[in-house]
Amino acid sequence: MNYPSWHESGLPHVWLPYCQMKVAPPPVPVVRTEGCRIILADGRELIDGIASWWSACHGYNHPHIRESVERQLATMPHVMFGGLAHEPAFRLAERLSAMAPGGLSRVFFADSGSIAVEVALKIALQYWLNVGRPEKRRFVCFADGYHGDTFGAMAVSDPERSMHKAFQHNIMRHHVVDVPTDGASLEALDAFLARVADETAAMIIEPLVQGAGGMRFHSPEILKAVREMAARRGVLFIADEIATGFWRVGHPFACEAAGIAPDLLCLGKALTGGTVTMGATLARDEIFEAFLSDDWSAALMHGPTFMANPLACAAAHASLDLFEAGDWPARVRAIEEGLRAGLEPCRGLPGVVDVRVMGAVGVVQLDPGVDIFALRPRFVEQGVWIRPFGDVVYLMPPLVIEPEDLETLTAAIREVLGASGGLLDGA
Ligand code: PMP
Repeated sequence: MNYPSWHESGLPHVWLPYCQMKVAPPPVPVVRTEGCRIILADGRELIDGIASWWSACHGYNHPHIRESVERQLATMPHVMFGGLAHEPAFRLAERLSAMAPGGLSRVFFADSGSIAVEVALKIALQYWLNVGRPEKRRFVCFADGYHGDTFGAMAVSDPERSMHKAFQHNIMRHHVVDVPTDGASLEALDAFLARVADETAAMIIEPLVQGAGGMRFHSPEILKAVREMAARRGVLFIADEIATGFWRVGHPFACEAAGIAPDLLCLGKALTGGTVTMGATLARDEIFEAFLSDDWSAALMHGPTFMANPLACAAAHASLDLFEAGDWPARVRAIEEGLRAGLEPCRGLPGVVDVRVMGAVGVVQLDPGVDIFALRPRFVEQGVWIRPFGDVVYLMPPLVIEPEDLETLTAAIREVLGASGGLLDGA
């Protein structure tokens, strides 16, 4: 590939994410995005299979989102949220609490997903402080879970698989348990919770799909049982829907597939249609009320500089408009069928351990010995943007992906994994 001059001169100055920069190939230069396409500097177009880390749910450059952000840009790109109020944020809080499941009536705006998680953890801890139970200060979290890269979020992510092992001696230790799979493991978790409930503030889970920790799924029945267990044991339940929120698994929020509502809900990524960074933590009334006091020390002390950024709010409003207008259950069902039909044939290929699909999430799990990084450039050669990690090749495309594009994405996976038989065998 020929790299443009800005790439050559800038590369020695950037520190890239999740990247061993000594050996990784240089990142692919992009000049434009449009719909479900990423346009490269050399003119090639890639079909996007992962929606920019699962955020660009409506595709890129959606005219409705662009107009909304442009309008906001002309009047007020940003203003601090401390002591000042603006309509985009107030109306967005109202809209989010109206659409969220069961009584999540308070919205704290954050500036990224990780910070939405940090805020949820802080709220949970301080809730118990404020109600006179300061000893409840640990968390129960799940193996294969991932909640972000900041210290609090790292501490409730899988200690091995969430990429944060280097910090194991620097982060708080919490209780990491397996996601239950059946009645016996549910009972075991309940027994464990009964033992630790007195010291536990909350349980945090990615409902139905554990994303960056390995793309594992669990059923709505398991999710419901776990939620009910937390309630029964007096442990708050935090749903991290930063990846699963906004129809990714066929419901506005994954919790709804299980008919449950969390105590705290974390949102991000697709909240702005993937346009501008924004996170949000939603809390139930009862939790918010525990912070009301004549004593200032009971208040939540958090306030990112760019919280409730008006441009992000404008993007989120436009994204919610689009979600209100479309037949999203049908769309996600069609993607699910396309993913299943397209990925299922991978099951027989050498090195493939499992194929699974839930909503608009399709996963081909490989033998852990496979050199997954070696696969990445091959997808670009196939004209698609797919970025395998850990032991999974996965698709989480924009929810507006057309059937032909989806077929091209799954065909690329079949082709790359099929043609990689030697690599997989020898890995
Ligand atoms: N929680 C989940 C479930 C996520 O998938 C992510 C991002 N991959 C985060 C939290 C962190 O979000 P951000 O990258 O916006 O900080």
